[in-house]
Amino acid sequence: MDESRAFICDFMLGRLAKWMRLLGIDTLYYNDPDDPGILHKALKEGRIILTRSGELAKNENAIFIKSEELDEQLKQIKEIISISNPFTRCPICNSKLKMVDKEEIKKEVPGYIYEVHNIFKRCSVCARIYWKGTHYEKIKRKIDEIIA
Ligand SMILES: [Zn+2]
Repeated sequence: MDESRAFICDFMLGRLAKWMRLLGIDTLYYNDPDDPGILHKALKEGRIILTRSGELAKNENAIFIKSEELDEQLKQIKEIISISNPFTRCPICNSKLKMVDKEEIKKEVPGYIYEVHNIFKRCSVCARIYWKGTHYEKIKRKIDEIIA
């Protein structure tokens, strides 16, 4: 399955949804244990459902996520979706990130961050700013492990 496919995670899979966004995959999180609701949204938006529910997974546009463990879940994702654009999507709201000029965000980040970093990305919808801080290294290592 190529990464242009869009997904929707059921209410059990909030962490997975966030990590899939970090991997650059278009993923919504449906925070409500309402099967007709998630089915309707998935069909309307052409999304594949990722679910921990055997019942919901019987639908043809749904995939059963086997493990409760995030690392195992990510391994399963890697087997079904090709991943090549990590760090291109906002982990909070799922929108695309865009590179921004450093000067443009000067007033929006702490001074010491501005001093030591040169590459900043901004979410096109929620306007959050991202840079390769201490958090990034940890996430990058995990993503490298997943992709490898
Ligand atoms: Zn955002």
